[in-house]
Amino acid sequence: MRMEELTWPEFESLKERVNTVIIPIGSVEAHGKHLPLGTDVFAPLEIARRVEERLRGLGVEVLTAPPVWYGHTFVLNVYPGTINVGGDAFKAYVREIIKEFAAEGFRRIILLNGHGGNYSPLVLAAEEVTVDFPETEIWLINWWLDFREDILSICSSQGHAGQDETSVMLAIRPELVKMENARGEKRSSKVRIIKKDIGKELFPEGVNDDPSLATVEKGEAILSVVSEKIARLIAGDT
Ligand SMILES: [Zn+2]
Repeated sequence: MRMEELTWPEFESLKERVNTVIIPIGSVEAHGKHLPLGTDVFAPLEIARRVEERLRGLGVEVLTAPPVWYGHTFVLNVYPGTINVGGDAFKAYVREIIKEFAAEGFRRIILLNGHGGNYSPLVLAAEEVTVDFPETEIWLINWWLDFREDILSICSSQGHAGQDETSVMLAIRPELVKMENARGEKRSSKVRIIKKDIGKELFPEGVNDDPSLATVEKGEAILSVVSEKIARLIAGDT
């Protein structure tokens, strides 16, 4: 169920039987020369859709909220099309959204995150909400991290705009993927270095992995295992 398609009386009656809401959260940012700027939202939105579908089969209903499109993306801000929201502003904005869902009565709020830079502000936002809403639990799911082992049994590598993310996009919106431009390499530094243009070194052209081995089959397999596992986590606790 997509919240934005409901009327308020429909929403009100849904709340009587549904206690879990999924909020997809992403970023508008450079993903190499081969993936669209909205990749980090397309992926969690599709995962949420599949999770809902699987749960329906188990007789469990959840609500999917409208996504938070803009995220905190300091590192990729060196490339055109990256729209970075500062960490404090992003944390405060998401905290208000989580708080509103808690006040509406949802007891489990799932932040289904598609973007690494959001990680710390999301944890801080969630922690702040628990002060006023001790009954509410907030889950932070980072799909590419939490299911890394599964993903690496499907893909030989993963990374920003890399083999895993590109495969997922091939499965979701193939018409938006320019495989002829899909190239890159894995880069890392021993310690975390924060400086203005670090993105150019760590993410050349907005990529940090080799995406050339991406396929639609790998993308389907990732979406399938990730949504199955999230659905089971939700169902097991209902
Ligand atoms: Zn991404």
